[in-house]
Formats: sequence, C-alpha cells, structure tokens
Amino acid sequence: MERDENKLLGFGCMRFPLLNSEDPKSIDYKSLYEMVDLYLDSGFGYFDTAYMYHGGLSEVALRKALVERYSRDRFTITDKWPSYMATRNEDYEIIFKEQLEKTGARYFDYYWLHNLNLGSYETTKKCGGFEFLKRLKKEGRVRNIGFSFHDGHTLLDEILTEHPELEYVQLQINYLDWNNGFVESRKNYETAIKHNRKVIVMEPVKGGRLSSLPEEAISILSPCLNGESPSSIALRFAASLDGVVMVLSGMSRLSQLEDNIKTFKNFRKVDEEDIKALDRVRQILLSKEEIACTSCAYCTGECPMNINIPGYFALYNSHPGSKDMYKRAARGRGLASECIECGECELRCPQHLPIRKLLKDVRASFED
Ligand code: SF4
Ligand code: SF4
Repeated sequence: MERDENKLLGFGCMRFPLLNSEDPKSIDYKSLYEMVDLYLDSGFGYFDTAYMYHGGLSEVALRKALVERYSRDRFTITDKWPSYMATRNEDYEIIFKEQLEKTGARYFDYYWLHNLNLGSYETTKKCGGFEFLKRLKKEGRVRNIGFSFHDGHTLLDEILTEHPELEYVQLQINYLDWNNGFVESRKNYETAIKHNRKVIVMEPVKGGRLSSLPEEAISILSPCLNGESPSSIALRFAASLDGVVMVLSGMSRLSQLEDNIKTFKNFRKVDEEDIKALDRVRQILLSKEEIACTSCAYCTGECPMNINIPGYFALYNSHPGSKDMYKRAARGRGLASECIECGECELRCPQHLPIRKLLKDVRASFED
C-alpha cells in the first residue's frame, strides 16, 4: 500500500455501533451495514479487525457486513494474531484458520502480530510467531505482514532491526500523546521512519477524548477549524505525517463516519499555525488529566473479577464521586474493591496504567 491522500481513512472495527452500550457483543447490524455502504461508496476500502475485538465478534460482524455483501476486490482486510495468547507454536495455525473462517475473507491483505510489547515479543520469538508470518506470506495466505506496537522506541528499534521482513507498523499516534513518556508517539513514529517502514496510525483521536474538548481549548483551536470538528484536526495531525499510509478511526455512529469522510475527502495537511494551536491545547488537556485511559478495553477480557475498568476510569475522570452513575457502570460487573490484584489487566494495557493502584482511587471515590 502506498500513501494515497484521497484514501487515508481506515475503518477500525473495535467500536462498531451497539444496541446496548454495556454489551460489546450487541452489534447493531442495521447501522453497521449503513456505515459500511457509505464508507465504500465514498471511495475508501480498508478495514482493520482483530481476534479479540467486540468479545471475539468483530471478525464475524465484518464477514456479515462486508465480505458477504461485497466482492472481494472492493476492500482490503487487516486481521491480527493475538500475540498475548502465544504459548505453543501449533496455536498460530489454529487461530489463523479460525480467523479466516470467522471473516470468510479467504486470505488477508494485511496480517499483523497484535500488540507487541516487551513480554509478547519474547514469547512470539520463542513460539516461532515471526517464522509463521513469513510462511503465511510465502504461501499467499496473507499479502503483507507487520505488527501493532504498544511500547517504547528502544524496543521498537530492536524489533525493526531484527525483523526487516515486517513491512508495516501500527502505532498509537495523536497530538496529545505526541511527547507522552509512556506512549512515545513521536519517538516511535521517528523510529519507524528511520527503518523505512510504512506507518498505520491507531487512536488518532485517543479513544474519542480529542473529539470533545473543553471550552478554552476550543477557543484556541477555532481559528484553525474553519467549521470542522475537533476530531477532524486530530485526524489531520496524524495523517499529515510523512510515511503514514492509513489512519484508523473506530466509528460507532453514522455521523462520525460522515464527519471523517468530510475530513479525508478534502484532506489538507496541518500547517504551522495548526501545530502551534495543538501544542497549546495539549498543555491544557495535560493539566486536566486524571486517568489517561483510552477505553480500548484490552484489559477487561482476562479479568477474573469481570471489573469494568475502562467504565470506572471514564467515570472517575468525568464524574468523580457520583455513586449513582457508579452503580450503573457496575451493573453485572465486579466492583473496584473486588480486584484481587492478579495484575492480568496491567500486562495488556497499552497505556501502561497502574490499574490496580488506580482502582483503589476509584474505590475511594465511589465506594467508601
Ligand atoms: S488486577 Fe484486578 S482488575 Fe486487573 S485483572 Fe486482576 S482482578 Fe481484574
Ligand atoms: S485501562 Fe488500559 S487497557 Fe484498560 S481500557 Fe484503559 S487504556 Fe485500555
């Protein structure tokens, strides 16, 4: 895939429209069909799914909404092997076949190792994950290979040096995290470019956080917006970087898709004034931040106490102390106080949040 400035919008498949916002499996197919139709009719065609999204249903939903309704040459699909699940070499083939079956895609245009970090890089090496990807490509079962990454630039540099066969790297890049010491958006981007790899951007709007900004941030941005939304300038920031070939947006509503189409149909790079304004907005947002959770829900799948970690963190940021809202968020879920401190969630958190400690703050705010 080469950079095409008319086609930089990728359809992220981790935030499909839902019938019940508390249940990631309750996909609203009617709305999803409409969104897929509009996205394709607008000239775009890149879909990004993964084994774990929507409690394992994203791949199936993609088959129903896309693969069974359009000819295979109208779109490309990226799927990802769940690197955190690697324990034995045999699992690679088993899970890959399951993914092909769930999506009905016959082959994947792009196939990534999902969420490489220090721990999963070691197990992937040990279990033969890199050889598996090379074999898939050689056999034509996938067309291009790469990985998504959630760690620091030193490790990224090591992976890219040791694995020249990985053509693409998917990175969390947005203006808020640009200089963040954990996420390292800028340093990771520069490392990927140094290694001459193509970059796919994820979380350009930081899980929606950059779409609704405080008043003082809006007034700084308004001369740059020309009627466009705060999400639009966040997307343009990421899409303006050289070497970026796709920017993913996990859209949950038709109106979000329409807004994104407007942005990318008339794509213009951010200019110096835009960058200056975004720097000031970043300072404002950082000064207000409590818990920097992006609501990706990577942490929840393995929690033995079924704790609504992203829900509680979002509530802590927006409505600290609101016991009624906490009760609603906790319906059918474990309370923050029920955390047994096993640490499973922290192994998966791309933001490297100290979840166990933060849950104690949540408990103090909502339960005590
Ligand atoms: S540390 Fe607590 S919140 Fe995290 S997975 Fe374990 S029980 Fe769940
Ligand atoms: S705590 Fe971390 S893994 Fe869990 S939703 Fe927030 S950012 Fe994602």
